[in-house]
Amino acid sequence: MSPLSPNPGNYLSEDTIAALASAPGGAITILRISGPQAFSALRALVKNKPSRDAVEANDRVLFRAHLRDSADLPLDEALAARFQAPRSFTGEDVVELYLHGGAFIAFRVMEVLSEFGIRQALPGEFSFRAVRNGKLTLAQAQSVADLIAATNDSAVRLALEKLSGSQNRLLEKIADDLRNVAVLAEAAIDFSDQEDVSSSSPSLSLESLKKKLLPVLETLKKLQSTYARGLRIQGGVRAAFIGLPNAGKSSFFNALLGEDRSIVSELAGTTRDVVHEQMSLRGQRGTVTLRLEDTAGLRSPEHPVEKMGIERTLRSARDADLILLIVDGRSCLTHGIDSVQSQWRAIGSPKEKTVGILSKIDRLSSTERDLARETCSSLEIPTWIPVSSTTGEGVSTAVEKITAFCDRWFNRDTEEVVLTRLDQERAVALAIDHLNQSKTADYADLFAADIRHALHALAPMIGDTLPDDILNEIFSTFCIGK
Ligand code: GDP
Repeated sequence: MSPLSPNPGNYLSEDTIAALASAPGGAITILRISGPQAFSALRALVKNKPSRDAVEANDRVLFRAHLRDSADLPLDEALAARFQAPRSFTGEDVVELYLHGGAFIAFRVMEVLSEFGIRQALPGEFSFRAVRNGKLTLAQAQSVADLIAATNDSAVRLALEKLSGSQNRLLEKIADDLRNVAVLAEAAIDFSDQEDVSSSSPSLSLESLKKKLLPVLETLKKLQSTYARGLRIQGGVRAAFIGLPNAGKSSFFNALLGEDRSIVSELAGTTRDVVHEQMSLRGQRGTVTLRLEDTAGLRSPEHPVEKMGIERTLRSARDADLILLIVDGRSCLTHGIDSVQSQWRAIGSPKEKTVGILSKIDRLSSTERDLARETCSSLEIPTWIPVSSTTGEGVSTAVEKITAFCDRWFNRDTEEVVLTRLDQERAVALAIDHLNQSKTADYADLFAADIRHALHALAPMIGDTLPDDILNEIFSTFCIGK
């Protein structure tokens, strides 16, 4: 609950907003205020003389502030920083208060702020204002959100590079190249009344203009192809745990996870649904994020609920980037591998994306381990890792192999721009469509129009103006206080 004004506000209003910019429960609470009333609110809150002078004079300086409410009751002894427009995150007057942690103090300060008509910020509203005031491009604001959501080193590095403008520079270059060709094409339209345009100015012939577009098109296609990796860097590699009931899937899942997230039971068929979990694995080759899907065991049950679970397992296996096929070492020695074989076939034997886990090896002698591995080799899965989730043996090897497997998505060239957001991938795809279309244009005016459409598609990524409703939609997915 926030004590701030009941006015829900909207992204387009120009009033003053406030929100906690730090997570609750810490030693310090950061409260951010942005808008025309920010300094007058600070002036009213700060009562001690030296700080009052600081309120008036010092921009971008941290000073001690005795905060009091309108009845002169003490609120907190805080630190305050004042950022004068336009030299602030939002481009507006901004105050940041560093309060002692604790929900009550923050609540009281917010309550006093509401007396000045300051309202609770909407999700991402500070970033929205930063974009509106030209302090950040949309892509940079999205990088801030990516940075906050990052769960591995690659995602952090990528978001920081984008925040410093790597994606903007690439897109600006693409847009410049497109504009240049469009200008030449438009000149060709103007010249088209004259006789034999191409002989008087060979650079204006439609064919030569089309050639100029080819490298731009290639760059855009390459950029679009990065999205598959960006999605995994930002959102994680989808990993499905597949195997017969009681193979040890949930136990291995938990061994990787290091906590009891999944139900572990001796009754076959306990895990009936797909349990979603995200984890970052730190191997020697770097950190990767796995979006784990612990699935129901694969068999042919009569029970309708289990049947649904198994259908989901098949879907999960099909959609997964990585399958961890768990085979109980003991059971494959006593019962053979036939039932695993048939389930393996049921999911289409996708050996190129599968890592085999030979489980419960603490129950096997070293000769039996060799025998079990030999039995499993008929599945033709290139990598088998013997693991005991009970003793932890083999778990770190499994982490190494899994992170190595994920390298294909997490590796990228230095400074390579990688798309992480669907709206950006869609924008690039649309631009590519228009440029492909331009290749078939018979007239300079149609050709120029296609290029303009491509530029229009890329506009949101370059930082050109965007319809407000689209901006609202994008920023409403941000966190409050950002
Ligand atoms: P799931 O049905 O494939 O998810 O299998 P579970 O993880 O629920 O495990 C089935 C049974 O095997 C449980 O009794 C576990 O305690 C046991 N189990 C799992 N992993 C190991 C292991 O590494 N060693 C031993 N000894 N038992 C295990």
